[in-house]
Amino acid sequence: MERTLVLVKPDGVKRGLIGEIISRFERKGFNIVDMKMLRMTKELAADHYAEHKGMPYYDRLIEYITSGPVVAMILEGEDAVNIVRMMIGKTSPSESFPGTIRGDFSLNITVNIVHASDSLENAKKEMKRFFS
Ligand code: ADP
Ligand code: MG
Repeated sequence: MERTLVLVKPDGVKRGLIGEIISRFERKGFNIVDMKMLRMTKELAADHYAEHKGMPYYDRLIEYITSGPVVAMILEGEDAVNIVRMMIGKTSPSESFPGTIRGDFSLNITVNIVHASDSLENAKKEMKRFFS
């Protein structure tokens, strides 16, 4: 069994998509082992997106992710990291297929509804970051 971290980003919360997103993961068969709503501080955001520092979109990204509450959750299931990444869709709107969360609900490369850990190693770090 694997565990991974998912965030419903501020646009997902504002648009009333928390239930829709949780429901997709539940129907797929994942167990929600922990969950909470929080407002990310600038410090938490900078830590979470450290690898993006210096990118042209970095300031916009930090503004966006701290603009309202997010819902953080830990999902557990077989091959969770890969399967959850598949279910959220690609970062680029032109590559996130219909049927994925981003493919169904977002047209914007920054404002894109959800986050999910991209590797087992990052999942462990991110679960600790949000649920220490
Ligand atoms: P993902 O969230 O799919 O793992 P990344 O880790 O590459 O994508 O990027 C983190 C977040 O930064 C993205 O979800 C998106 O909000 C934003 N982002 C990434 N790349 C770009 C870009 N080229 N332009 C604007 N925003 C971006
Ligand atoms: Mg990423």
